[in-house]
Amino acid sequence: MQPAESLHEPIEEMRRRQLVEVTIDSLAELGYVGTTLAQIAARAGVSPGLVAHYFGDKDGLLDAAFRSLARRVGEQVRTRMRRVSTPRGRIQAVIDANLAPEEFDQRTGSAWLAFWGQLLHVERLKRIQSVYQRRTLSSLRNALRKLVPATEAQSLAAMIAAMIDGIWLRAALSGWQEADSESARATLTAFVDGRLRACAAEAPPGEVGAAGEPAGVTAAASSPGRTSAAVGADGQFASINPANGEILGYVTVAGVAQVDAAVAAATIAQARWGALPGVERARVLRRAADLLRARNQELAELETRDTGKPIQETRVVDVASGADCLEYFAGLAQSLGGEHIDLGPAAFGYTRREPLGVVAGIGAWNYPLQIACWKAAPALACGNAMIFKPAELTPFSAVKLQEILIEAGLPAGVFQVLQGFAETGRLLTRHAGIRKVSLTGEVGTGKAVMGDAAQSLKNVTLELGGKSPLIVFDDAKLDNAVGGALLANFYSSGQVCSNGTRVFVHRSIKKRFLEGLVKRVNAMKIGDPMHPDTQVGALISEQHMHKVLSYIARGREEGARLVTGGKRVTSGELARGFFVAPTVFDECRDDMTIVREEIFGPVMSVLDFEDESEVIERANATPFGLAAGVFTNDLTRAHRVIARLQAGTCWINHYNVTPVELPFGGVKQSGLGRENGRAALEHYTQLKSVYVAMGDVDSPY
Ligand code: NDP
Repeated sequence: MQPAESLHEPIEEMRRRQLVEVTIDSLAELGYVGTTLAQIAARAGVSPGLVAHYFGDKDGLLDAAFRSLARRVGEQVRTRMRRVSTPRGRIQAVIDANLAPEEFDQRTGSAWLAFWGQLLHVERLKRIQSVYQRRTLSSLRNALRKLVPATEAQSLAAMIAAMIDGIWLRAALSGWQEADSESARATLTAFVDGRLRACAAEAPPGEVGAAGEPAGVTAAASSPGRTSAAVGADGQFASINPANGEILGYVTVAGVAQVDAAVAAATIAQARWGALPGVERARVLRRAADLLRARNQELAELETRDTGKPIQETRVVDVASGADCLEYFAGLAQSLGGEHIDLGPAAFGYTRREPLGVVAGIGAWNYPLQIACWKAAPALACGNAMIFKPAELTPFSAVKLQEILIEAGLPAGVFQVLQGFAETGRLLTRHAGIRKVSLTGEVGTGKAVMGDAAQSLKNVTLELGGKSPLIVFDDAKLDNAVGGALLANFYSSGQVCSNGTRVFVHRSIKKRFLEGLVKRVNAMKIGDPMHPDTQVGALISEQHMHKVLSYIARGREEGARLVTGGKRVTSGELARGFFVAPTVFDECRDDMTIVREEIFGPVMSVLDFEDESEVIERANATPFGLAAGVFTNDLTRAHRVIARLQAGTCWINHYNVTPVELPFGGVKQSGLGRENGRAALEHYTQLKSVYVAMGDVDSPY
């Protein structure tokens, strides 16, 4: 899936940054009260109207300045963490970044102090501060869990965080007399080393990593013991990197109590969130989009580790597509509304477009962050609260999205992530307090979810599987058709719902098409997904790899001709992961298993055809109807054929491009409802009709 290109506005960004810097200067000199919009405008040499245009009011400006300070330290922590590989190194990274020399300079220190003085009174600043504090604690705790028992990790993390704040505050209040950056870091370092030595002497061996974090995800412990499917006695399961089998972290399953608590919190939060003007909700979503883009590399790496997809894809598609979606629905949030209906001189009517309430999102594992954004963005834009359950195979990026939304100003409880397997999904789907479920998953799961949702008549949006046709006519530009077929089959190792896996090629050009195709398939680079040159990564799990391989075996048994690929790739380090070579079958028939069933792997079936009506009939002969593509240079034929294809999303002379502006979804058993585009608003709102009388009541009684 590829996002539409985003437009960037470097000049606007630059202007914003300048104004934020001027605000920090002003805060350092004049304090919180003395800093006014007019004063900032005068310092920056611009009109107060321009400052208001960018930030709204003084609160908006101060909010941006505080975020900027907090973000800078956060980035310093992340940069330092990337340079180290040990848990002790990560603890030091947190200390060194928070007590870096620049945090002890007069200007930055005074601005921080000005904000700290307001934290108790200004809710928005308090939220930024608490996100920052939570993140610091979580980084410390995750690193400490590898070094000391879990209970000790919790309290030691809190002590280190408190000491960082305490030393800095005393230094600032003493006018930097009491400590400088170097001595502050030395004090903290000595304290941490002392505590770690003491713990090592006291702790029983082997006890590392237990207590779950709020979002249910903990970092990997040093000794792998569980597979991703097994839930331990502590209610946790391990999540692994499918490219090498390494454990990425432990995840805590949410049960009845957690689901009930989440719904209760969401219900309270939604009442306030849904009552905000659309423009305020939009502001939060837009900030979240900016934060996603700013953290693109980090999130892409996380997604690649979790899914096995090449970094070359996640870096340009997954995060960007999520950010585009948040930005797009931020725009729509501001223009949500009903209509006025003229009922003659005695009355008129109007409609209100209202949120549904608390809604659930349940995601598949192939585009974890994108799916979370595609569901969260319209839900939140329309004023709903969302509880999101990622697929158990890919639990991490949804938690990052939650963090980012909170950092962007989303009130607690409006977007929550619960982890777990199908049972957790079922608890959400059946919950009486949830008004809608949006699922991305298999057709069978869609049927189960719809059945469960029916018990309380919930709305459902179902984005399900497919076995989509791609039709190449004899007048098509051959290179483009081959390129389209590659995009339609091998992106994300073939794990894309809309893939055009039934490639119908006109008999007269099939030989040439196959020659061009095989040449390009054989040149594809399979390898470590983190390597920038890798084009084909791992499949999501060992179990899924065996399922894909068994389909390949079935294709051969049933008489399809294997043209290329067809096997697991185990060279060198790849033996530790779940890699399957891009596979092309020719001489396929419509009744073969590989042509009828969704494989969800890198397996293309090539079929030939003679005439237009025949190919349309064969393309439609499936219970699925997610997507379809046509390659032809005949304009009228393109539209004529597309109009007759039974599919929710179609492409002419391209494939698998999914700009957020276009609604996406399936017909027949591929789903119900639409994501993206204005159409998604219908699925996250309900209409209220209001009749307004302008005269007396004419009653016969
Ligand atoms: P699944 O249907 O196995 O799972 C989807 C999600 O539903 C998971 O979070 C799963 O939990 C949860 N779940 C499973 N059973 C239930 C239940 N009874 N009640 C509530 N929740 C449940 O799909 P996959 O994750 O295997 O994803 C692959 C499928 O998704 C393919 O068929 C693909 O075509 C489809 N897909 C469709 C897209 C679209 O937009 N149309 C886009 C992407 C994928 P758990 O993870 O624990 O099993």
